[in-house]
Amino acid sequence: MQSKPAHKINIAIDGYSGCGKSTLAKDLAECLNYIYLDSGAMYRAVTLYFLQENIDYSDASQLSSALQNIRISFDQSGRNPVLLLNGEPVESELRSVEVNSEVSQIAKISEIRRFLVEKQQRIAQKKGVIMEGRDIGTVVLPEAEYKLFLTADTDTRTERRFQQLKDAGTPVDWGKIRENLIERDRIDSSRKDSPLRKAEDANTLDNTNLSRKSQLIKVLKELKEEFPGIHIPCESSLSRSKH
Ligand code: C5P
Repeated sequence: MQSKPAHKINIAIDGYSGCGKSTLAKDLAECLNYIYLDSGAMYRAVTLYFLQENIDYSDASQLSSALQNIRISFDQSGRNPVLLLNGEPVESELRSVEVNSEVSQIAKISEIRRFLVEKQQRIAQKKGVIMEGRDIGTVVLPEAEYKLFLTADTDTRTERRFQQLKDAGTPVDWGKIRENLIERDRIDSSRKDSPLRKAEDANTLDNTNLSRKSQLIKVLKELKEEFPGIHIPCESSLSRSKH
């Protein structure tokens, strides 16, 4: 007899730029066998399209017709979903300096937020989704069963982003990365529509001094406490590996 599938929940992770939301969300998704969704990549994809097509988004008619031409989907065949912009994988372009400096301006625009939030909510309907971003716990999935607000100090965040870009073969000046993180946090926290803030019912986790694995173990422990019936497929392999 087949066993009944375990009840899945939705998990919302929000926080400042570069505080490791993607790493944690990917680790949790792999561990729980859930779907990982990087909502920031969707804002980046819209930004990339606008830059490539030279769209003047302050012009309402250019903005609406551009949005009609954007198709964002995810290739789910690999370990992590890969974003496709009009059918093309654009991962490396999404993290470029140009996209980094423009994305928060574009994410302020309500029409763009509505366009993407609707897609994000549709993906989460079936449950078993770990979504990370800035407004997931407050606006996109206010009913998510588990919400986390991640923080880390600015130098640690800068160093992590620096290493990420270096590993991807695009070294950027450390100071410029730091400035960009601070500036994006400022714009993201002060915008009118869906500003970055902690949902009232979110748990806070400062991961400045936590290793990747310790952070994962900590969150899994909390999940087990809050949802005693939750199925954690990776549990035994995790306890066998080193911290
Ligand atoms: O997460 P990431 O740093 O890739 O996000 C890029 C930008 O996209 C953020 O700085 C923010 O301006 C925007 N964003 C947003 N809402 C989200 C996710 C990202 O406004 N849910």
